[in-house]
Amino acid sequence: MWRPLDPAIMAEVERLLASRTRNIRLKGELERLFQQRSWSRTAKIVRAWMTWVALLDLLTLCLNAILLPKAIVISMLAPASILPPVALATAFVWRRPRANCFQRLALTAGLFLILLSVALVGVSAGGEFYERHLNIMLFVAITAIVIFALPLSWTMTIACYALGVYLVLQLRNPNLSAGSAVAATLFFASGIIATVVARRTMTLLAQKTFLLELRDQGRVAELADANARLELLAKTDPLTGIANRRWMMETLNRLWSERINSGGGIAMLMCDVDDFKNLNDRLGHAEGDRSLVKVAGIIQSSVSRDRDHVARYGGEEFLVVLPGADEREALAIAERIRKSVEAASLPNPASRVAPYVTLSIGVAAKAPGDDLNGPEVLQNQADAALYIAKQEGRNRVVLHKRDRRRASIVKPSSER
Ligand code: GH3
Ligand code: MG
Ligand code: MG
Repeated sequence: MWRPLDPAIMAEVERLLASRTRNIRLKGELERLFQQRSWSRTAKIVRAWMTWVALLDLLTLCLNAILLPKAIVISMLAPASILPPVALATAFVWRRPRANCFQRLALTAGLFLILLSVALVGVSAGGEFYERHLNIMLFVAITAIVIFALPLSWTMTIACYALGVYLVLQLRNPNLSAGSAVAATLFFASGIIATVVARRTMTLLAQKTFLLELRDQGRVAELADANARLELLAKTDPLTGIANRRWMMETLNRLWSERINSGGGIAMLMCDVDDFKNLNDRLGHAEGDRSLVKVAGIIQSSVSRDRDHVARYGGEEFLVVLPGADEREALAIAERIRKSVEAASLPNPASRVAPYVTLSIGVAAKAPGDDLNGPEVLQNQADAALYIAKQEGRNRVVLHKRDRRRASIVKPSSER
């Protein structure tokens, strides 16, 4: 999986993409990432090429044994036998990633020996084979340069020693003058240089594609990040920082269908700050806001169970959903919330209940197997219980009792 890159690297990506393709130079971490990404493809090509060159060498040797005089075939045997083990050893080294310098050494040295083997087969056989095998050697070098997606310096090394071997052996060619040897070398050099340039262009284009992919991935990651932040905003109440009503309704519907399917129970607490209007009127709206933030925090920290959910339902009302809780558990949690808010002693000097902020809580619970039409029914029951709590004097917890068609009231500690 792609992980977001360092901003400095992304800035470098943008800088390189803004420059001309021919000026692209990957350095440091970008170079490492490019090599890491392209290694398996390059290695696969290197291994396939080495294996085929070894097989073709053996095949050519067999054909020569059938078609050529025995003396020539015997003279070819020693130099030709260098190639297969070297090619297979190089393929072996490229089976898995190793230190860059070791890989480079293995490939360039392996290729040098392979080219030398091809050339020496011709030199040993002599006559028409001499020049033919030097040409084959250059052909082999060109296929390697084109096919292997290697850094420019590696490709240059291969090109230089291919031409070097060609020049040295042509100068020793008894059938060729020194001038002709140099002229032939220059002729092939122009072809090889063109091949190196083409290879370089291909590498630059591959690097540009890599940079474009990094940029796209960066943008996708930024978008995903922005989406996640938007999603969080959409489900958060801006004042208190807890979940909002919209999110709670979605969660409730989801939980409800899960509970119905599994036949489990669920409980709901509808909490309402008592005489909150008086708090606003006496201490001001800003103080009212601060109280709401604190009450939200208290409710949130009173429900420690991972599966419970708290949301600001509206103005000074909070809805708590307790999946899996029965009446007893829900009452205990509601009472804990009520007591914690009371204990916080947040000022509400104009309240008819107490000089501090208090909560009234309506509780409703659906036992496993209870047949309720939807979460709205349970919510209405919690609302009805809250209404009774207000009527009974506020600062209390009331449980909705469906079967007895009334609610049971838990009195505040001060009245007990
Ligand atoms: P009760 O005990 O019957 O619940 O009385 P109450 O005064 O709490 O209820 P009422 O519905 O009469 O008043 C609720 C008040 O809550 C009125 C409204 O101005 C205030 N309110 C609603 N939202 C906010 C808010 O975001 N910030 C502040 N400071 N006040 C708010
Ligand atoms: Mg209210
Ligand atoms: Mg109120």
